[in-house]
Amino acid sequence: MRAIVHAGALAAGSARMLRAAAGLERRGHAVLWHGAAATRETAGNGRAAHGGGGAGADTARGPLRADVVIGSSRSPLRTAWLGWKAGAHCMVLALEAERVRRWGPIERLACHSLYTAALAEPAERDALRAHSGGLELERIGLWSDEPPPPEPDPAHPDTEWLERACERAIARHRGRAPRPAVFLDRDGTLVVERGYLSDPDDIELLPGVAQSLRRLQAAGYPVVVVSNQSGVGRGLFPESRVHDAMARLRMGLRARGVELEAVYFCPHRPDAGCACRKPGIALLERAADDLQLALRRSAMVGDKLLDVQTGHHAGALGLLVRTGYGRSEEQQIGGEANGPKPDAVCDDLPAAVEWILERGEAGEA
Ligand SMILES: [Mg+2]
Repeated sequence: MRAIVHAGALAAGSARMLRAAAGLERRGHAVLWHGAAATRETAGNGRAAHGGGGAGADTARGPLRADVVIGSSRSPLRTAWLGWKAGAHCMVLALEAERVRRWGPIERLACHSLYTAALAEPAERDALRAHSGGLELERIGLWSDEPPPPEPDPAHPDTEWLERACERAIARHRGRAPRPAVFLDRDGTLVVERGYLSDPDDIELLPGVAQSLRRLQAAGYPVVVVSNQSGVGRGLFPESRVHDAMARLRMGLRARGVELEAVYFCPHRPDAGCACRKPGIALLERAADDLQLALRRSAMVGDKLLDVQTGHHAGALGLLVRTGYGRSEEQQIGGEANGPKPDAVCDDLPAAVEWILERGEAGEA
């Protein structure tokens, strides 16, 4: 996702949102800062992509474009203006109940000019229920009870909350009809299998991956990564390392013209009994809710039979690729009477994408 942060508005009253936005940047999203000086002091790792020139500035690479603009309830009109200039259709605001109570028609109009969502302190919930400034209550999320991080942290709940708020707003603005998606395993499917990969420098795209993802995007399929990362639960590396590696993947794909719709991963050990580890489908269900996806018309592609099972458990197609562990997994097909049987076994991701596109809309009606 591409986001503009109205840092000037946030520096005065919402360092929490500012740090969460910097966390988004650490997660590999394209974050552009308006008000560079304030950002550098407050967020820690901010950078102004356009020298503080502001949204809408023409650059050698063309006018600035963004999907979402991030600001605060202190100046929604100026934040919305930044969004309009950049072609953003969505706005996410840090709300302060006292500010919202004093909003007039201009501020309310600014919020209605874009699809606006918001985040607020848990202690302000009741006050915002009484005076929401015209915002639908279901669009107002609450920060977690955890204190904000002392510096930008991609693994902190605030970063997660903001990422989800932005992605949900973007998906809802697109329309109400659920869309079919392609869910992709990461290791051994998109990138070379390394065994508990945690070093971003080890992220290496498999041949043809970027081109095949561009084809999926051009055909209208949102591309969503769903990954088991039990190395976190096993204590091999902290969760922040997964975010760093995912950020490298996001940025590498963006440089090749691919924007991942979202990234989800399970950090738990296999014996933790969680619902999010594949072949559990909690992450697919979360993605379906966040991004308005139609699971039964979607497909899951991976290099393990548990990826195939995940797809089938969700009512979607399940495809196995022969990269990563795929060849040895293929030997196990049919070994158990009720074992997973892929809808297709393909040499690699480009071949799987070809199969999906030829078939048309995936899954059952
Ligand atoms: Mg894999």
